[in-house]
Amino acid sequence: MKRCATLFLSLALVLCSWQDCQAGPISIVVNEYTSSDDSFTTGQLLAAKATFETQIALWTGALSDPKGGPHVTVTISTVDFVSLALGNGGSTVGATAVGGLPGNVTKIKISTNTDMFYDTGTVPKDQKSAATVMLHELGHAVGFNYLDSGDGYQKWNDRITGNLFDMFGTNVTMAGAKDDANGLSHIDTSYAANDLMNLTIGYGPSSVRPISQLDLCMLAAAYGYQTPYDCPEPGSMTLLGLGVAGMAGYGWRRRK
Ligand SMILES: [Zn+2]
Repeated sequence: MKRCATLFLSLALVLCSWQDCQAGPISIVVNEYTSSDDSFTTGQLLAAKATFETQIALWTGALSDPKGGPHVTVTISTVDFVSLALGNGGSTVGATAVGGLPGNVTKIKISTNTDMFYDTGTVPKDQKSAATVMLHELGHAVGFNYLDSGDGYQKWNDRITGNLFDMFGTNVTMAGAKDDANGLSHIDTSYAANDLMNLTIGYGPSSVRPISQLDLCMLAAAYGYQTPYDCPEPGSMTLLGLGVAGMAGYGWRRRK
């Protein structure tokens, strides 16, 4: 009896180390935190870095890669806290993510101007949550990203026709139509107001936004991530081929 149990255990261990067996967490690695803003002190930079790491944990805790290892790793070359001009009267959240696709190097800039609220507590009505801006830019890094790069890695674009993102039969309206890179990376407020991935997040307490089920399900549709939610799935014609992935998802949910 004891021998049987040992044999079963070692067999399981061998199989798991061979192909890593099951779904695993994605990881987001930042190579360097800097500040191009001379007025941003070292202490502020360290605090901002800590806040950024917290936002990373929210994404990596919400998305899982269905494959056996190695799993998706997003490498961010630099996170720069910089004094950015908020152009067009607040039509931008004051930060940009460049070149972000899962696995690709991404540069993220987060504004340090007075619109941004870096403290803890309630966000004043004339400021925006810096933590939410960080979370939003990380959303681009993990896949909310229209890239007309021509490199064959067009998983996000491939789901979009006009300004509609096809989430396996559910059409999500994006904030812009074809060739509007900025618009295609954001969910339109007419479809979902107060979403983390809207083009703007506004001011005050409502600028604090969590990662939504919609955000996660769209990423799942484009890249095959697994999430804690029941997301729309491919039609029945393709279900057969995805049976193994479905079982991996079951295992991941059980481990929660
Ligand atoms: Zn954005």
